[in-house]
Amino acid sequence: PRSLADLAAAFGLAATRPVPAQAQVSAVASDNRVVADGDLFVALPGARAHGADFAADAVRRGAAAVLTDAAGAERLADLDVPVLVADEPRTVLGPVAAWVHREPAEQLATFGVTGTNGKTTTSYQVDHLLRALGRRGGLVGTVETRAGDQVLPSRLTTPEAADLQALLAAMRELGVDALTMEVSSHAIAMHRVDGVVYDVAGFTNLSQDHLDFHGDLESYFGAKAELFTPARSRRAVVVVDDVWGERMAAAATVPVETVRTVPAPAGAPAADWTVDHVEPHGTGSAFTLTHADGRTLRTATSLPGGFNVANAALAVVMVLASGVPVGDVAAALDAADGLSARVPGRMEVVAPGDAADPRVVVDFAHNTDALELALAALRPTTPGRLVVVFGATGDRDPGKRGAMGAAAVAGADVVVVTDDDPHDEDAAVVRAAVLAGAREALAAARAAGREVSLVEVAPRADAIRRAVLDAAPGDTVLVAGRGHETIQEVGGVDLELDDRVEARTAVHARAERNTSA
Ligand code: ADP
Repeated sequence: PRSLADLAAAFGLAATRPVPAQAQVSAVASDNRVVADGDLFVALPGARAHGADFAADAVRRGAAAVLTDAAGAERLADLDVPVLVADEPRTVLGPVAAWVHREPAEQLATFGVTGTNGKTTTSYQVDHLLRALGRRGGLVGTVETRAGDQVLPSRLTTPEAADLQALLAAMRELGVDALTMEVSSHAIAMHRVDGVVYDVAGFTNLSQDHLDFHGDLESYFGAKAELFTPARSRRAVVVVDDVWGERMAAAATVPVETVRTVPAPAGAPAADWTVDHVEPHGTGSAFTLTHADGRTLRTATSLPGGFNVANAALAVVMVLASGVPVGDVAAALDAADGLSARVPGRMEVVAPGDAADPRVVVDFAHNTDALELALAALRPTTPGRLVVVFGATGDRDPGKRGAMGAAAVAGADVVVVTDDDPHDEDAAVVRAAVLAGAREALAAARAAGREVSLVEVAPRADAIRRAVLDAAPGDTVLVAGRGHETIQEVGGVDLELDDRVEARTAVHARAERNTSA
């Protein structure tokens, strides 16, 4: 527990009444329903209600004090506990929680990964490498939260500011000494990661996604660029394979190391680290990473596709940027057989394929770019036809539906359009938009002499089953868009649906058919 008077002094917060010298707070909560004894309840102004309306309930649950804005404080004149006032409580919430928990992030090595695609995959590789180096890793992300060997399911990609600080404090107690986090632009904009200054922040890439939240690419870029300022990180590692990466490296106001994993376009500035000698290696690729100063390292990733070379290279350079010598990293990677972290629902091989059956892969690609890349990644290792099963989500980003349809036709031989999460939209309308884009692209494919077949199958489980049953040995079936997700949202109802489970069920159905035939 920490002294409330000290807290008020540290943040220059006024109090509506003198704060008793013995007043203490032990944690911070911004949701009255989870307030525990001794908490500081932060009453945030909201769009619909003011948190102050819930302060009395918070106090009943044991809140020792309240922090709110002037409007909130006015409503709380009669409250029995001390009330602190901030101009914008949301912006001090994270730092205050960090202070109450004695700055847990400062006692861990911290790595943050942002970008449109590849955050989860890269985070897993960073964590994997840190563990290979003997660190006790903690991981916070879309799929799960891990503290050492303990796994907790994730509800939000990034917890709310106060919860995050409590989580980091818990990790510190569990002996975690190196934390890796996905940092979405939402999380930055919504102040969830306030109170954390990452030792190393990494940037993967940027493309059209989440534009319904951020408006246009420029403001999306701006939201991500904030991570590369001294308020939020100490060092940056930026993949400059796309122009947004170049711009991010230029915009960063902390020291930057750049990484290029594809041949540089003419006139592009030289990157600090370059990747070359990319060769097939097991299920993934081996590659060489070389610094302009001569440091070099050869290693491999078990995940397929050029983009996973980028994710792996970013992970390695982020760890190097934290100060680990290249020789130590090389030795740890050799011992760990390269970057072999498997990531749930990311290029996850459900069935490897053999003389009787197709290969079946589940991936989280849920935007045009990722879909294109996922298909391109599987093409070289697919002797037969490449089949893709996917849909677009309802309610959000309708602009990308047709483009996803077109990308599927451009990259696959068999396109099965089905449902993703329809949310509150009519699933048939969403499919129609995807199909319209796909049909347009079909003409171009035919003109180029490619025969692509396009079918619509709903619901999703049927589409997966049909794709797997219809495929031939040598084919690859890519089930794209939902990765590790287990809940499909249809009109406000949560249905259980796990692509990996459906894919496995379909593979078993095939095996039964094979034996009975
Ligand atoms: P995020 O956490 O940013 O959503 P993931 O690592 O979960 O990213 O990857 C999501 C999907 O995006 C993957 O399933 C894959 O299809 C694709 N992807 C992964 N890494 C990259 C990358 N570096 N560039 C482009 N696409 C990628």
